[in-house]
Amino acid sequence: MTSSNPRQLAITAALSWTDKPTDGTTPERVDALFGIDVFGAQQMRERLPKEIFKVVKRALETGERLSRDVADAVAVAMKNWAVEQGATHYTHWFQPLTGSTAEKHDAFIVPDGHGGIIFALSGSELIQGEPDASSFPSGGLRATFEARGYTAWDVHSPAFLQRGKNHVTLVIPTAFVSWKGEALDQKTPLLRSMDALSTQAMRILKLFGSADGVHRVYTTLGCEQEYFLVDRHLYFARPDLVTCERTLFGAKPPKGQQLEDHYFGTIPPRVLAFMAECERELYRVGVPVKTRHNEVAPGQFEFAPLFETANLACDHQMLLMETLRRVAPRYGLQAILHEKPFAGVNGSGKHNNWSMATDTGTNLLDPRDETHANIQFLTFLCAVIRAVDLHSDLLRAAVASAANDHRLGANEAPPAIMSIFLGDMLTDLIDQLEKGLPDRTIRGGALDLGTRSLPQLPRDAGDRNRTSPFAFTGNKFEFRAVGSSQSVAWPCTILNTIAAESLDYVATELEQAVGPNPRPEKLLEVVPGLLQKIIAKHKRVIFNGDNYTSEWHAEAERRGLLNLKDCTAAIPALGGDKNVELFEKYKVLNKTELDSRVHIFMEKYAKEMLIESEAMVLMGRQLIGPAVLEHQTLLANCVTASQNAGAEVKSIKASLDSFAKLASRFDAALEALDEADSHHVEDPFEQGRYMKSKVVPLMNELRRLGDELETRIASTLWPLPSYRELLFFK
Ligand code: ADP
Ligand code: MG
Repeated sequence: MTSSNPRQLAITAALSWTDKPTDGTTPERVDALFGIDVFGAQQMRERLPKEIFKVVKRALETGERLSRDVADAVAVAMKNWAVEQGATHYTHWFQPLTGSTAEKHDAFIVPDGHGGIIFALSGSELIQGEPDASSFPSGGLRATFEARGYTAWDVHSPAFLQRGKNHVTLVIPTAFVSWKGEALDQKTPLLRSMDALSTQAMRILKLFGSADGVHRVYTTLGCEQEYFLVDRHLYFARPDLVTCERTLFGAKPPKGQQLEDHYFGTIPPRVLAFMAECERELYRVGVPVKTRHNEVAPGQFEFAPLFETANLACDHQMLLMETLRRVAPRYGLQAILHEKPFAGVNGSGKHNNWSMATDTGTNLLDPRDETHANIQFLTFLCAVIRAVDLHSDLLRAAVASAANDHRLGANEAPPAIMSIFLGDMLTDLIDQLEKGLPDRTIRGGALDLGTRSLPQLPRDAGDRNRTSPFAFTGNKFEFRAVGSSQSVAWPCTILNTIAAESLDYVATELEQAVGPNPRPEKLLEVVPGLLQKIIAKHKRVIFNGDNYTSEWHAEAERRGLLNLKDCTAAIPALGGDKNVELFEKYKVLNKTELDSRVHIFMEKYAKEMLIESEAMVLMGRQLIGPAVLEHQTLLANCVTASQNAGAEVKSIKASLDSFAKLASRFDAALEALDEADSHHVEDPFEQGRYMKSKVVPLMNELRRLGDELETRIASTLWPLPSYRELLFFK
């Protein structure tokens, strides 16, 4: 007999997936595949007239604008290349404030004047697009009747081909602004913040005499993406996963991640096949994914790329997320990027590895061997320490979302308190610096592995700290609080802006003391004093211990560090006066643009909470409710039948009673939630606070009761795939 229970059907289907043996062909070599669908420097060199190529190359190096003639020439070459590869359409691809990407496709066709068509793309179509802006969130920046929005090609992020069944499309990465030029996207402020950081970092390099031949300082970014994979049949049997990417019910399985046997474990064959196909697709469009492995929770995995210039890394990050989602169904899987899809097991983050580098390739956060003598490095380091302490509210706000609220501060992710981990070597240097000029660098030495058959390993000068929200990891900072589903553009924009402000402060202080072109000895006389001042004031933000402990929370409070626990505290802080001034000063966002963002983020939070709460009520009524009735009927029938048969019914009667009690508590909680979430006010801040204080506790209570029901109702009646099935079927 086939079951009509959705869970049973889903399980049967999930188990039918078989690992198909390979067809014996060797996969293409990565170096042959890499970037073949990108219209990059190589294609331009081959296809553009020499003179034009030179102009484009210079524009790419210096950030100059392309003239109309040059743009036309690039457009023709790009179109020809794309059409040769089978493309029929092009799209301006952008990142509105929805959190995902947007695209509108246009065919290359134009009338040929004789009743036919030809394929063409003009310079202006390449450089500028005009999608209707009225349906994207603008947070009151524009009235909906003011629909005009423009997309503008980000020349530093090359166009690429998107391939799929029956289509090849030329994708042009763009920024998205309103008719007045206000940023409506993630890209515009990111590019502005990169300019701001470059300007200020260049001043420091000039002071140190390190600016020769350097035109710009770039921010570099490498993002480690964590995600879950769930069998697609099971996924579709979970309305909560489909609607919210998060399970709203689900009892803890007997085995979760207690045994710690998943991290770096053998990658299951089906998952590895999926990963390899993702990699192939990503290599084609030039995304340099390097690392793949199992993560801590069962069913959780990670991809990490080589680092790149921040705006390119951001585009590639969006492509990575899209690719995971697109490829997974081919393997009967669903990629889940939500920060906390499952209660009680680890959530997913996206560590943002961030540094600053000159266009000549010097990493400004690389301490080198004789770190104590590397005063320029120490200057950049102290500027970052100051930035994090002064603007911890911004760093916290950069990662605020309803989903990340489940992660930050829970016992598995860095807390909502922003602090810096420096490690032994740098902490020692900072201690020395506090007293005068440092004169030694702690070294790692060598690790003796105790057996001659193993090589001696060089030891790093410090251990790692997985609990810190912002950790120095050798030659870069790792911002670990970023959520897995987030665009990395916004956290990076904030890092760049606060670093720019701090570098500005340092440069101004030094220039005032010794002028803009000091002799090295003169500069060295004043730098230590300034760094000491910075350390004295801001060292409270340095913490090398375990960030997960309650002792740290108490200690942080003593130190006066902020603890913005959730969105309702973190998002409003973003719009504070200090921050308006900061973003305006460095021309990253004006007040209107910043206010609109604060509004959008808060509205998104309130809306997401409402969607979750309504989804919960529906699941309770449509799926759990009927199972409860069936199970209760089963018990009641059993009591009657047993009685009729003259059997002992005391214990079955007791179980019926207690089950019925639990069921009615569940019903009451359901009604209470349904009632509470129908309260709406216009103001998103008030609505957000209401959801947090009134609705969330009711959701938690309903979940607790629902999960208890799951453990008591007959497995054949329970309608939802369980945690065991979701996490372990692969
Ligand atoms: P780990 O997490 O062990 O330090 P890696 O050194 O491989 O691992 O780096 C992790 C991530 O950091 C990778 O995505 C890598 O590209 C990135 N990364 C390394 N150096 C830099 C840098 N200078 N700037 C930005 N990201 C970097
Ligand atoms: Mg890392």
